[in-house]
Amino acid sequence: MNHSQFKAFINQIPKLDPMQKQLAITSLNQQDNPILNRLTKENIRYSKCIHCDSNRIKKHGKSNGRQRFYCNQCSKSFVCTRGTAFFYQHKPEHWQVYLELMLKRETIRACAEKIGVSSVTAFNWRHRYMQATEHTFEVRLEGIIEADETYFRESQKGNKKLNRPARKRGSKASIRGINNKDWVAVLTAMDRNHHEYDHVLQQVNGTEINKYLGDKIIDESILCSDGQAAYNKICQEHHLHHVVLKNDQIHNELFHIQNINSYQSHLKQWMLQMHGVASKNLPKYLGWFRMLAWHKYQSFSDDFLTKREKLFEFKLLKVQQHNF
Ligand SMILES: [Zn+2]
Repeated sequence: MNHSQFKAFINQIPKLDPMQKQLAITSLNQQDNPILNRLTKENIRYSKCIHCDSNRIKKHGKSNGRQRFYCNQCSKSFVCTRGTAFFYQHKPEHWQVYLELMLKRETIRACAEKIGVSSVTAFNWRHRYMQATEHTFEVRLEGIIEADETYFRESQKGNKKLNRPARKRGSKASIRGINNKDWVAVLTAMDRNHHEYDHVLQQVNGTEINKYLGDKIIDESILCSDGQAAYNKICQEHHLHHVVLKNDQIHNELFHIQNINSYQSHLKQWMLQMHGVASKNLPKYLGWFRMLAWHKYQSFSDDFLTKREKLFEFKLLKVQQHNF
């Protein structure tokens, strides 16, 4: 568009009715939407039909600002948000800002106010994004692996019916331990490359630990733990060398469980800021924390935040599309 054409275009703006103005604004915002642009690029790069896996896909116009693709193999079409946390989500112009606010640990109410949506919408968006991270894990753990369990107070927040008598606010839970209904056990593990893994356990026993952690570790690695007998099974089945340590014991500079203890400590502090997480939502929050902790969870400079945003966006989009 040359200068005179652009001037003519600008002169037309006052003639638009309110609805047309709104559509024009939405359209302009969507032209430069980083998430939609990224989703379009990812679809082109991986070039796979979401219905039949064929690579015979081509661009096929836009639908509501989202790039549409058409598959020559199965004759079906799909939009670039299909299969991601952004599918069927309105207000794409706010997505990026919302993710940034989440990374800055803003409350749901603050997020809602800043982008002009209701608290219910802000809550739903948060849970959409968190759910996308729930099954997001890095490559398998290898080398020296530290593992330990941690416990969170059981919470039926948000459930319409409690399966136990209601607790008084501030009441004390009984001492935590195996099979205790007041606490939810979470298995956490990480290797020295800061690949983290965690999973909510129904019971702390060898079968559960082997079932969840067994697939996530490379055989013949070294497992450092506090000596809980429940780790024996996984060590036998996966030929792990088991180094048993107590919390304050530093066997030597190489074998310890300080990293996983530090991770758990940050996780607990972060959970406290969430003001009570329902047990049913715990896996989503664990996933979100893993995302935040991808690099060092303590650092929070602007530059660092930018890096994490990119990483988060990458994981969120990639994982959803290809179901890693
Ligand atoms: Zn297809």
